[in-house]
Order: sequence, then structure tokens, then C-alpha cells
Amino acid sequence: MLNIILLIIISWPVRSGTFHISLFNEHTIQAIVVSVDKGSYRLTAGGQCAGNYAENDILYISMHGDSLLIRNQTGRIGIFADASFDENEQFSVFSIRPADPPTDRSFYYGSLDVGVEFGRLRMINRVDEHNYLAGVVEAEAGNGWSPVFYKVQAIISRTYLYANINRHSDEGFHLCDDVHCQVYKGRLTGNEAIYEAVSLTAGKVIVTGDNTLITAAYHSNCGGQTVNSEDAWLVHRPYLRSVSDPFCLHGRNAAWQTGIDAGEWSEYLAGMGFVPDQVRPDMQKFAFRQDKRRAFYTVGNVTIPLRTLRSDWGLRSAWFDIQVENPSGRLLITGRGYGHGVGLCQEGAMQMAASGYNFIDILQFYYTGVKIKRIEELF
Ligand SMILES: [Zn+2]
Ligand SMILES: [Zn+2]
Repeated sequence: MLNIILLIIISWPVRSGTFHISLFNEHTIQAIVVSVDKGSYRLTAGGQCAGNYAENDILYISMHGDSLLIRNQTGRIGIFADASFDENEQFSVFSIRPADPPTDRSFYYGSLDVGVEFGRLRMINRVDEHNYLAGVVEAEAGNGWSPVFYKVQAIISRTYLYANINRHSDEGFHLCDDVHCQVYKGRLTGNEAIYEAVSLTAGKVIVTGDNTLITAAYHSNCGGQTVNSEDAWLVHRPYLRSVSDPFCLHGRNAAWQTGIDAGEWSEYLAGMGFVPDQVRPDMQKFAFRQDKRRAFYTVGNVTIPLRTLRSDWGLRSAWFDIQVENPSGRLLITGRGYGHGVGLCQEGAMQMAASGYNFIDILQFYYTGVKIKRIEELF
């Protein structure tokens, strides 16, 4: 088994430019409608050529036990173990609309392999690096940002791609299309600025001093200070250091506020081992201040990592103060930033770009001691 896995890893095209992405990976889809949006495709079913498909032609693919039942507009094509939908010319685009359960239609460049696995359709998009990365940047960053910011995101996504190329190798593909890897929904709006940013940064990745690809973590807004990786995830990375960030302070996600009932808070703390003073319960004990980011909240006899409070209470960040509002004990939580706070702060990076910094300045500001290299230089 190990040999087979190793063989797959070695024989897979890491640099030839085609990547295998598992689509709708977190969904149990039983039937899809595939159509040609642009260009043309060749259908191969059960190893045999099963026709060519041009713009607006449609295929219906559904599960039939462990096989695929494939139909087109004119009728049934047959039942097959697997099928491939290969582009006849570059830049062809197909779409998939899951029919069972029904979901929105998505558009993809490249080719498609379909099979049945674990009681669901397995769909693998074979796509070149350029179109894959543009899709990821569109899905992860959205539209309306500057060319420099898109370059930053393109380099981050490329670094992630190569650093995690073997993440799903035992399942027969490179990356999945969900948050487990990087969100990829194919071609969304086809934003030209994003495709151009991917081209202009071709091959560029972020590495440490000894040429290791970094974990290019990022988040929405750090609130003015990013977080050491070990304070958020227990993993120390020399390039994921806390930096003071003046650029995101006026960002959309710079500040937030919420309220928590002090009774619920007290109960929660009791669950963590907190012993309240029975004689004179003092809600003021719950007050807390972080002028700079801290890693822990201490009250009475308990100390809780702030990352735990953030996830248990669904808070937007782990950087917050607690004020006790009145004697009845409502807690006012005032926080800064949005996200885990590790690595690059997106709203800060956008502001840096708007202030004239280039993508190397921005990446080196948020990732301590890194270099930008071409992927070819690492092999
Ligand atoms: Zn994944
Ligand atoms: Zn920031």
C-alpha cells in the first residue's frame, strides 16, 4: 500500500501544471447536470469514446448503484463505471449543476472525471495552475480590490497549493475545493484583474530562509496586532510572529462589540473549574483588559486560553476586553479584528496596497523573515 501511495506521489504532475481538485468534496451528491458553456468536450465513458459535445449541449449523470447512468438530450447513453469529459481546445468551460440535492451551478475550466465512491458522485476537475489559482483568489478574496492585493493573494494561494500538494494523495487527488484546503468554486465572475495578478506573479511562492514553503496563513483583520502561531494553534512557526499593524485600524472588521449574560458566563466558567465566592459573588471579577494581545484569561482559580473562549462563544476574535455593565451583571465584550489573527491581515494588506507598497513589501511585513522565490528554484 505504501508503495502504491509513494508511486502516486512521485508520478503525479507537480510541476507539469495540471492539478486534480475534488469538487463538491464536502457534499453527498447523487446526480448532476453537466453542460458545455464554451468550447467543446469529448465524453469517454467506461473507456470508450461516447461522443463530442459543443456549446449548450447537456449531460445528465446520476448514480446507478456503484455505476453511473449517463443520458444526454436525446436519450440514454448507458451505464458505466466512470466517465471523463475532456476539453478539445484550451479555455473551454463546462458547468456542473448538482441536481440531487439541488445546488447552484458552477463553471470550470479544464476537464472532469466522474465516478462513484462512498455512496456519492466523485468529481475531479483537472485544471491548470493559472485557472485554479484565479478561482481560489476569486472565492477567497472576492471582487473590487487592487491589483497589488490580488498579487498578494495569488502568491499566498500558490504557496498553499505547492505546500499541500500531497494532502489528499491517498484519495487520488491533489486538493479538495472546500475550506479544508482552499475554497475553489471554479470561475465565478471571471474578474480580469485576478487572472492578470495570477499571470504577473507566475511561479512566485513564499519560502523561509532555507527555502521551505511556508504555511501562508491569513485572516480578515488583526485589529492592530497579529498573533504568534503558537498562541492560536500551539504550533510555532518562525515566520508567523506577532507584528504591530497600523494599516488595518480603520478597516471594516477593525472593531466589534457583543453582550453576554453574566450568569451564563459564570456557569461556563464553573464548567471550566471556576469556584465562585459563595458569600459575596463579585461580577467585577469577570472584567478583563488587553491593551496588547494576551494569550490567556485568568479569573479566580482558572486560566483559559483566549482561543478557547473565542471558539466556545463564537467571538469574532480573541482580542477583546470585558466590562461588567451593571449590577445585574451584563457583560459588554468589546473586541478588535476578525479571525484568528495569524499571518497576513487582509484589510491591512489592502490598505498597504492602497498606500503604494508592493506585494513583496506586504508579504514581508506580515510573514517575518521570508523570501519570494520561483517554484522552479526549489526543486
Ligand atoms: Zn482538502
Ligand atoms: Zn491588521
